[in-house]
Amino acid sequence: MIERWSNMQNQAMVMTDVRKFELCNVSMPEVGTDELGIAVKSVGICGSDMHFYEGKAFSIFPNSLPFVLGHEAAGVVYQVGENVKDFQVGDRVAIEPGVPCGKCAFCESGRYNLCPDVVFLATPPVEGALKRYIKYPAFKTYRLPDNLSMTEGALLEPLSVGIHAAQRSGVTIGKTVAILGGGCIGLCTLLAAKAWGASRIIVCDLFDSHLNKALALGATDTVNSGTQNTVEQIMKLTGGAGVDIVFETAGSPVTAAQTSHIVGRGGTIVMVGNIMPDVPFSFRNLYKKEAEVRAVFRYCNTYPIALQAVASGRIDVKRIVSASYPFEQAQQAFDHAVDDKVNCVKAVITME
Ligand SMILES: [Zn+2]
Ligand SMILES: [Zn+2]
Repeated sequence: MIERWSNMQNQAMVMTDVRKFELCNVSMPEVGTDELGIAVKSVGICGSDMHFYEGKAFSIFPNSLPFVLGHEAAGVVYQVGENVKDFQVGDRVAIEPGVPCGKCAFCESGRYNLCPDVVFLATPPVEGALKRYIKYPAFKTYRLPDNLSMTEGALLEPLSVGIHAAQRSGVTIGKTVAILGGGCIGLCTLLAAKAWGASRIIVCDLFDSHLNKALALGATDTVNSGTQNTVEQIMKLTGGAGVDIVFETAGSPVTAAQTSHIVGRGGTIVMVGNIMPDVPFSFRNLYKKEAEVRAVFRYCNTYPIALQAVASGRIDVKRIVSASYPFEQAQQAFDHAVDDKVNCVKAVITME
């Protein structure tokens, strides 16, 4: 049995400097008893990967190079750990990139995204999935049905953020929604809000290219925040009522400050984006409307839902992909994602 993978050569796309990758030979993973060996086939480039690639994460993670990025991944099982009963060699799988401790109060309550000991892929010192072969705990690995592509498997990760945001928001049939930011996470939130039955979805972004994509994916209205006053425009579109639910996905202090003006009476603001600076925010608006604010940190219990939603055709997540590159061209893929944010909503890297 061992010989089958003993002569396999692993390679990693190693980030050696800001905006610099080197394809390096690395050792094959030593697959543990509760783990799977996975030949990686598709990796999505996430905003956090881009942040790291541009050197913007070094203040939080100093001295972290060389490093391997990538946490949105799917592949094919090539080795099964001794204790793993429910996977076989050849299974096509997606991995959930956070591995919680499973024992703390948060894990036991089901909100394992809040586990203080979670081990998250591509978060130093834990290397990411931009490798030919990785090992991964079987309990955070999901078998893909035949009608899901490897890239759709990788996209279950950003879709999970959208689904978690939708679930946290309480969106349901008939609700009016505004999504601030039409990038990958904004569009995944749009797909989820639509699947949950929102009747009206207004997407706001600086780029018409993102807004057109949002319309194609089911937005009912768009606002170009570069040329229009976002708050005025949303109030106009809703007859002065504001929206039931506001999702902030742009991660910007500007959009964060707009949320309390846009939310309607009794409405909900959901903070999805990661906003670093403090933001001037009108709590008076919340008070007057008895509105509430909820935050979203990654996701929990969403992979089975995301998988079913895509497999059943309810959510067509592959349509967010705007570019695909082979593994060897990971550097071009990242440069494109970082330098052409107008046209690049989601770039993915695929392995033969
Ligand atoms: Zn991601
Ligand atoms: Zn825990």
